[in-house]
Amino acid sequence: CGIVGYIGPRQAQDVLISGLAKLEYRGYDSAGIAVCSGERIDVKKKAGKLANLSTLLEGQPLTGTLGIGHTRWATHGLPNDTNAHPHATEDGRIVIIHNGIIENYLSLKEGLMARGHEFKSETDSEVLAHLIEEAYSGNLEEAVRAALSQVRGAYGIVVTHVDHREIVAARTVSPLVMGVGEGEMFLASDVPALLAYTRNMVFLHDGDMVVLSDDGFRVTDLAGTPQQRTIEHIEWDA
Ligand code: GLU
Repeated sequence: CGIVGYIGPRQAQDVLISGLAKLEYRGYDSAGIAVCSGERIDVKKKAGKLANLSTLLEGQPLTGTLGIGHTRWATHGLPNDTNAHPHATEDGRIVIIHNGIIENYLSLKEGLMARGHEFKSETDSEVLAHLIEEAYSGNLEEAVRAALSQVRGAYGIVVTHVDHREIVAARTVSPLVMGVGEGEMFLASDVPALLAYTRNMVFLHDGDMVVLSDDGFRVTDLAGTPQQRTIEHIEWDA
């Protein structure tokens, strides 16, 4: 339901939690974040209010300057800890967050299971992690593109891989906005999540894919054709 992403010099956890708090109005039943330290990606997620996740993190904060966060509004699978996003591959090297519904997830899941993938959650979203893993051969953007070519439905998706200092995101129907900072980049499903950090925003179009790095972003369509997107200055306050 709500998405926040961050790459830059700050501790990602702080940006993710404060951003998700600003998206609470959208409603949700669980929350989670993933933070990449460079060596590994740590995932913490919890059913219930964001406060439950914050309490969990108080004792053991995640350190790292690249991260993604989610507040979930369950459509497939109970609102419990396991079904909360983010979802990781079995080796924990690829982590995804998904808003929306993957309509053909059952047939995709059957195929993936037949090819040896083990699923942890009951969500439609988890197929994305496994499809990306299967398509991955060194280029995360290409792997996400190949995975998305197999899915039908609505999605805002954000993806991280432990070996890449970048966030790959894409949207079809579900909204995504990018915040452009100096030496840092943000991503969210809505503007209020980012206003504390930047007012320079790029509204992604339907069918856009974007790769965020510390010093910028690159937008293409789902086929890989480069797209020009303008940075808008937001004057209003949430
Ligand atoms: N369909 C996904 C799930 O049930 C994502 C729900 C959402 O948009 O929060 O986990």
